[in-house]
This record gives sequence, structure tokens and C-alpha cells, in this order.
Amino acid sequence: MRIVLVGPPGAGKGTQATRLAGKLSIPHISTGDLFRANISRQTELGKLAKVSMDAGNLLPDELTIAMAKDRMQQPDAESGFLLDGFPRNVSQAEALDELLKTEAITLDAVLDLEVPEGEVIKRIAGRRICRSGSAHVFHVSYSPPKKQGVCDVCGGELYQRDDDSEETVRKRLEVYHTQTEPIIEYYKTQGLAVTIPSLGPVDEVTRRALEALEREDDGK
Ligand code: AMP
Repeated sequence: MRIVLVGPPGAGKGTQATRLAGKLSIPHISTGDLFRANISRQTELGKLAKVSMDAGNLLPDELTIAMAKDRMQQPDAESGFLLDGFPRNVSQAEALDELLKTEAITLDAVLDLEVPEGEVIKRIAGRRICRSGSAHVFHVSYSPPKKQGVCDVCGGELYQRDDDSEETVRKRLEVYHTQTEPIIEYYKTQGLAVTIPSLGPVDEVTRRALEALEREDDGK
């Protein structure tokens, strides 16, 4: 399957993407994770990414599209992928459509994770992620690790993202509303967007997402 996951910061995209990709045996492709990996390796791209990310801004389209395209063309993504955080504006969505067209493939669904704005701030303030780059995500009160500061899955160090400060989150939300939300309409006109309430237990949200994907698959 080829799936796009959309939602505001704190909607649980990373958490759900890891779970869904695991269940569907497809790679989880997160442009945010790819940028963070470059920051850790201190590459030129990483230096550029850090400035935009810390300010809550998007990275330039050309650069982001090239990076996402390169990742989608890796052998493990041949029979499907789950895109998390890409596309993030209409130009990126159009570029993705072009790429899919060239490869004669199509998207199966676009899952729009919906969460009230007040909840977003609470979720992000307590969010801690694993430094190993493996996309394991915890929350100090909603899903605390067994040992404080240590990833349950791989033992990596947990840290708070620099762009998870309240000021940056407000900017990221504004960017989401102005630039990313329009892609939901874009995909609705293609009959691909499905809205999933991302509230309640994590398992429950995964179940809703899997059911929605099954419905989309049956409808084809
Ligand atoms: P995320 O981990 O998806 O929340 O992304 C973190 C940050 O990485 C964003 O706030 C942007 O600065 C940058 N980023 C991630 N994906 C994209 C994208 N598709 N286009 C532009 N910037 C992105």
C-alpha cells in the first residue's frame, strides 16, 4: 500500500506511522526524521535544516522533494510506503503526483489525523523521542518509558526536540493551518482523504486507521 499521513504537530503521526508501517510491512518514510538524521550527522543539509526547524518553518520544497524522492526510490519502498510529514504543502503534493505518475503507481489513501488544538500543546510539551533515530516516541505522562530518559525499545537516550518549545509549536501550528491543511482538500478532490480522530488510546487510533485503510481498499 502507498499511504500519506497528514496531521498537525502532536497529532501522533510518528507514533501511528511506526505502528501502521509495522503492521503493513512497508517502510515508514518521515521527512522530519530524515532531516533530524542529517542534523545528528552534522551534514550541510543538517545545518540548514536545523535553522528552519528550530524556527518552526518548512525547508525549501526543491530540497525536500529531492530527499523524499530519493528515499521513495530505495528498493525497500518498491511495493509500498507510508509517508509521514510529506507532502506538507500543495506544491509538494503536486510533485509527488508527478513522481507517482512517472512510475505508473498511485496512492491508496491519505489519512488525516485530527486532534483539538489544546491537546496538541499538552502532547508536545511532554513528548520525548529516542536519539537513536529509530522514531521511538514517548510521553512523560501519557506513555512514560519504564526508565526515565531511556528508550524501552532500544535503550537509546530520550530527549526533547528543540522545535517542541511552546513558541516554536505555535509557529508550526500556524504553518500547518496555512500551508499543510490545504492538501487535505487537494486529496479530498482525488477521493483519497479520510479523517481519523486521533484521540483516546493509541491502539484505538491504530485500529481506526487500519479499518479506514481496509474500507479504502475494498472500495477499489
Ligand atoms: P516533523 O518531524 O514531521 O514534525 O517535521 C519537523 C520539521 O522538519 C518541520 O517543522 C519542518 O521544519 C521540517 N520538515 C519535515 N517535513 C517537511 C516537509 N515535507 N517540507 C518541509 N519541511 C519539512
